Amino acid sequence: MVKIFVSSLSVFLLTIAAVRAQTPIVIADYPTINEVPPINSPEVQAWLKEIDLTGAPDLPLHKGAPPECPNPPIPDECYWTCDGCAGDDITACAAPNTWGLTFDDGPSTATPTLLNFLKTNKVTASFFLIGSNVIQYPETVKREVTEGHHLASHTWSHHALTTLSNEQIVAEMKWTEKAVMAATGLRLKYMRPPYGDINNRVRFVLKKLGYIPVDWTGDEFDTNDWRMPTMSEDTVIETFTKSLDAYVASPKTKGFYCLEHDVNAGTVAVAQKLIPLGITRKINIASVAACESDAQPYQLGGTAPMPSANGTTPAPTGAPTGATSVGGSTPSSPAGGADGAKVTPTVSAGKTGSNGAGQVAAAGISSAVLAMVAGAMLA
Ligand SMILES: [Zn+2]
Repeated sequence: MVKIFVSSLSVFLLTIAAVRAQTPIVIADYPTINEVPPINSPEVQAWLKEIDLTGAPDLPLHKGAPPECPNPPIPDECYWTCDGCAGDDITACAAPNTWGLTFDDGPSTATPTLLNFLKTNKVTASFFLIGSNVIQYPETVKREVTEGHHLASHTWSHHALTTLSNEQIVAEMKWTEKAVMAATGLRLKYMRPPYGDINNRVRFVLKKLGYIPVDWTGDEFDTNDWRMPTMSEDTVIETFTKSLDAYVASPKTKGFYCLEHDVNAGTVAVAQKLIPLGITRKINIASVAACESDAQPYQLGGTAPMPSANGTTPAPTGAPTGATSVGGSTPSSPAGGADGAKVTPTVSAGKTGSNGAGQVAAAGISSAVLAMVAGAMLA
């Protein structure tokens, strides 16, 4: 008991220390919101000098937002959205009977409502953050850390990474890393590619930067929240309920990661209906850090002490550390994203209109919403 208390206390103190390590974010010091950052800036040039991209797979850049699948397929590309090849990406929560809860595309003005809900239900999640949004809502990112959630990267501008050069991928990842470091003192370690768009070239660059890609566990665990309002909320709930029931009826030797978003009021509203479906089915709910039992869910080199994991709740038997359990004991939450279904990738976000660096807040959200609508239309 004492041990648990001390452990929880140390995690609490570490997270507080992390949040205090932030430095003020000046938006003008960052690239244009929702646009691929230029690679000729002093910052990107310095980052490029830190890594060796020699040996990167020589694969052609794809075109489109999201890209169309190459026909015929390119040998050895291992292109997840097109051929289902995940390489060494993480595609399932390592803990049995566990819902790896992830939210992509935030933070947004809707995120605080989600955080309130997660707190009330004692559930922790991983947030795959868009750097352009982080600089607009740094206080929300800080709150995510102090409330035990795990932070991960979703790139700076939410462009499909297979369409970008190796150097542009570095710029997307490092600017996001810098923004989160400024907000929290923590250096991100896990990432999710927008639209699930990843191949061996992208993987090579990510690995050089120390990132571990986390895909979602197949189309059945895409909550389809990004299809709303074209798809009704009722259909989203009904479809996902079937996926949960099928999972409960399976051996459940591994957990799963969903695709889900905290990008607007609609996705946050449906999240509050989906998560209880997991809880009532006694599925544990956990962040990526907890799913993977990663005691160091951030890269070394941050400016703050590294929290030992996300969540301060001791794990029940069979549940990952930090998992919340149902009925007050352990459960879970959904994850997922509107990054577009693996098969029918969503439109790239934001791409609907770029916002100048000076235009903040609401701009990012509205472009994300437009992107989702566009994505739904495409799907
Ligand atoms: Zn996304």
